[in-house]
Amino acid sequence: MRILITNDDGIHSSGLTALAEIAAAFGEVQIVAPDIEQSSMGHAITHSRPLDFRRTHIKGFEAFRVNGTPADCVALGSSLWEGVDLVLSGINLGANLGNSTWHSGTLAAAKQAALLGLRGIAISTPVARDEPDFEPIRRYLTQTLELLLPATELTLVNVNLPPLPRGIRWTRLSLRQYDGKVVVAKDPMGRERHWITVVPVVDAEVGTDRWATNEGYVAITPLLLDLTDHTALSRAQVQSDST
Ligand code: MN
Repeated sequence: MRILITNDDGIHSSGLTALAEIAAAFGEVQIVAPDIEQSSMGHAITHSRPLDFRRTHIKGFEAFRVNGTPADCVALGSSLWEGVDLVLSGINLGANLGNSTWHSGTLAAAKQAALLGLRGIAISTPVARDEPDFEPIRRYLTQTLELLLPATELTLVNVNLPPLPRGIRWTRLSLRQYDGKVVVAKDPMGRERHWITVVPVVDAEVGTDRWATNEGYVAITPLLLDLTDHTALSRAQVQSDST
């Protein structure tokens, strides 16, 4: 199996190296990742300038750093390296739960894989002040991949690992509350500056990704590319048929 590894934190992220090391047990690994951090870029692609890539080595893995977005890296990587089966994106240093998946560059890379007819899995873990300790999550991420890789019908999956996992749960996205908020702060000159930040959401709905990670479980959320509101569509079609 050929596994393309990417992320949105950039080629030098410790999460990227940890993921490549774990993925190497499952197949042939190649890293294609943004040359600088691209967090919260969502599914942006570069259309106004050419993409450039440079070969580098990350802990013995063949790697390429790209002057583009996570989605660019998947498009470029799967075009340059034939026979890619799977794209693993992460390990993102920061959770990607519920509504925040709309902005996530980590998930966008997995979505790009699914758009190209490949399989994509996004992998994230929360961070505090220091970089995460990958040792406690290594075993659970391996178990998660053992669970997901044979399930070829799952083409797009979002995985979040708590810092100290105690099990694995299948989940849905938490949609109770949007956690992005604009806050005002003063810069050293006393001028007002606005930041978009994340306000922690409490009381997640049972069965959701946020609930599972709050409870110490790895959250595996299968996703669809189809954004169609099928309930609304059926209702509208019934109404228009009756007129
Ligand atoms: Mn990130």
